[in-house]
Amino acid sequence: VLASREQQQRRDRVMASSAERYYDDPPQFERGWDTRLVSTTGRAYLDMVNNVTAIGHSHPRLADAVGRQLHVLNTNSRFLYEAFADVSEKLLAHAPDPSLDAVIPVNSGSEAVELALRLARAATGRRDVIAVDEGYHGWTTGADAVSTSAFDNPHARGSRPDWVHLVDAPNAYRGPFGGEDAGARYAAQVREVAARLSAEREGPAAFICEPVLGNAGGVVPPAGFLAAAYAAVRAHGGLAIADEVQVGYGRLGAAFWGASTQGAVPDIITVAKAAGNAFPFGAVITRREIVDALAREGMFFSSAAGAPASAVAGAVVLDVIRDEGLQRNAARVGEHLFDLLEGLRRRHPLIGAVHGMGLYQGVELVRDRDTKEPATEEAAEISRRLLARGIIVQPASERQNVLKVKPPLTFSREDAETFVEALDIVLKEYARS
Ligand code: PMP
Repeated sequence: VLASREQQQRRDRVMASSAERYYDDPPQFERGWDTRLVSTTGRAYLDMVNNVTAIGHSHPRLADAVGRQLHVLNTNSRFLYEAFADVSEKLLAHAPDPSLDAVIPVNSGSEAVELALRLARAATGRRDVIAVDEGYHGWTTGADAVSTSAFDNPHARGSRPDWVHLVDAPNAYRGPFGGEDAGARYAAQVREVAARLSAEREGPAAFICEPVLGNAGGVVPPAGFLAAAYAAVRAHGGLAIADEVQVGYGRLGAAFWGASTQGAVPDIITVAKAAGNAFPFGAVITRREIVDALAREGMFFSSAAGAPASAVAGAVVLDVIRDEGLQRNAARVGEHLFDLLEGLRRRHPLIGAVHGMGLYQGVELVRDRDTKEPATEEAAEISRRLLARGIIVQPASERQNVLKVKPPLTFSREDAETFVEALDIVLKEYARS
């Protein structure tokens, strides 16, 4: 095996600068197990970053089932085989409402969002979409257009396509509204934009939002926001899209879907990441009539989407979440972790807020609690120091000042304590340096 630096040079030679990596000087991994990644030098790291490997790294049930499937059949998804219907039925068993009765498999989150937008447009016959600032929905053209956060995309400010209409991020910590009625006030922005689109254009095709804002740093919208925003877009004939790519699948603990944690039922749900545990499997869940509307105007087809091995991966992930009680684990461990982090916040002025719920949390670092000046360099330095202590955690948000905590759902109380103890030490050291 090459040393990390040489491996990095080898990768850069063939990929140029196209693929972003975690860390400037990262360890090289050769094995993963549960919540741990093991480097080529034999060191085990606690993986706090991976909401993709939701059931844990190298889960034997997944490896066995996918391996078996690859030995017998893996092919273009136009053929008839059992795994496709199997995973779709399992996914629909989790539908937040019986009206959501159709599944379309895809390969990635970006593709799920692209398809969701297309479905909403086909069903409404309109093109305008309302999205929230600081949202992230993927890199493909449509998904990128409704995203503002992360990856410095060229649309992030200014040159956005004319069919995208942004409202403020429903962020009570940083946005214009805090207080009791914040949820209603952010939702009122959705209502105003929807009303304007009805008056001046065709009206909205959809409102798209992550139920908990992922790349914004695990920001939970204030109470009532999502249900009121969905009601607002529907009142103007549009559909509600919940992008559950990061926070669905039990990660928030309180419910299988992020939107359900706020008592909201979307018309279209997108899933990926956790859905295949880093195997390319995602899906759009919606109503039959919406799929039929798309079928009337053209077809949807993606060669390997829901192919036998991916579909088997998707089914095993759902089985493991159920059999190992991972949603319940996310609720319990998440609550413990949140309490521990709140404890740290009381002792460390650098922590301005702890966001999130379940196993999706964000530790927001600020230089000054009153001005909330983002502690961006501090967040980068603290994540470097945590890496030196064997903990992988990354800064997120537009300001890159939120340490995002989104480990595999198998994350234990002991893992939470290991992380919080290390963070405590690093924050103390940093304050002294
Ligand atoms: N939606 C959300 C909420 C995401 O967080 C992401 C990826 N970070 C995507 C969509 C895009 O998913 P993918 O990277 O699988 O294309």
